[in-house]
Amino acid sequence: MVAPSCSMLHSPVDLAQEAKMDEQIKNWMAFATQKVEEIATLATALNDGEASITDALEKSNAVAEERRTSPRIHNQDVKARVKAITPEMAQRDHVFAERRPAQQAALGLPSYPTTTIGSFPQTIEIRKARASFKKGELPEVEYNAAMKKEIEEVVRYQESIDMDVLVHGEAERNDMVEYFGEQLDGYVFSKLGWVQSYGSRCVKPPIIYGDVSRPNPMTVAWTQYAQSLTERSMKAMLTGPITILCWSFVRDDQPRSETCRQIGLAIRDEVGDLEKAGIKVIQVDEPAIREGLPLRRADWDTYLTWAVESFKLSTCCVEDSTQIHTHMCYAEFNDIIDSIAALDADVISIETSRSKMELLDAFVTFKYPNEIGPGVYDIHSPRIPSVEEMTGLLEKAAKVIPSDQIWVNPDCGLKTRGWAEVKPALENMINAAKKIRAKESGAKVA
Ligand code: GLN
Ligand code: ZN
Repeated sequence: MVAPSCSMLHSPVDLAQEAKMDEQIKNWMAFATQKVEEIATLATALNDGEASITDALEKSNAVAEERRTSPRIHNQDVKARVKAITPEMAQRDHVFAERRPAQQAALGLPSYPTTTIGSFPQTIEIRKARASFKKGELPEVEYNAAMKKEIEEVVRYQESIDMDVLVHGEAERNDMVEYFGEQLDGYVFSKLGWVQSYGSRCVKPPIIYGDVSRPNPMTVAWTQYAQSLTERSMKAMLTGPITILCWSFVRDDQPRSETCRQIGLAIRDEVGDLEKAGIKVIQVDEPAIREGLPLRRADWDTYLTWAVESFKLSTCCVEDSTQIHTHMCYAEFNDIIDSIAALDADVISIETSRSKMELLDAFVTFKYPNEIGPGVYDIHSPRIPSVEEMTGLLEKAAKVIPSDQIWVNPDCGLKTRGWAEVKPALENMINAAKKIRAKESGAKVA
């Protein structure tokens, strides 16, 4: 029997359907249909001798050689930059205890500060505008105006409910990886390269074919616009290098660690530009860090070392006073908690509400050094949590984490929810924070 080494479930179907893809890059790839054809070719060779597939072999070797030596894959500037990485580049100037007062002075936040994870509901209007802009039906000026209107609405809404650290809502983003891939060099996109993500959800991972770099700022204009609308701190929103790597199709001609470092440098450029644009809080999402773990436990340390280094490379270029956040969607990370702490993000938000804060068990023995937002609102459900429920969860968290380290936020982004549930839930969340602040200051006075 001649068969592929694993199921084709995670391969897109047919490369021949990609009419718009760059012809040269397209030649370097095989989707499921092409892989099956190759299997048939190999079977022919086994049955009828290698001479029977000479043409196919020559063609395939020529393509492989063309790819290996192509200047489109190899960007010498990127390679030189990766080579020149120093340990200091992946280290903040000072430890968290010293950065903290600088951030407190810069941000002036209350205890139990409130924020969200980034996205607000992606309404039908938002999706429509993006789709018709992509099709070329909606002119760019009109699309930009529509997105600006969305941003202004979510900013005003967050101000109206007294949120402490605001977000711009991510209306302009289709997907948290594709959005960045589209703006990075070294990426191509398929039109129909859908693969299953989980259940009935499918994603169209962008394809990394060459050295990755960032030709231009990717998010600065939107974030700066959002910040210009408000006196409150606007939190910029980026996807981190590990997640961009894990949720893309990656090259097989260099180690994943190398590609991850390249992406880390690209995100570093963005972080630096956001800081220069006056943004004081920057979130770099890494929901994929755990799923990137190799199958064999013996390989974990190596992975975690380069993964943590890539994250830090992307974030450690900022001043002490600039606050770096990160976010992880699920939190079975008891066994990698040292690495999570080693990311040295000033604030981390994690999922906890569904497990009723059980995962905080890890924090009983492990004293998490920086600030942490254990999600109090389960965004996977349309249910609206009450104020009491959320104060209960916060009190539970405060038993294992010092209260001055706790942030108040939902479990994840709100893009799949509707406004009808999001509004009351967030308002309850803010009231829960206020209630617990009042209770604690009352306790202190007494
Ligand atoms: N910032 C992203 C959002 O809010 C994070 C999504 C995620 O964690 N998967 O949508
Ligand atoms: Zn999440």
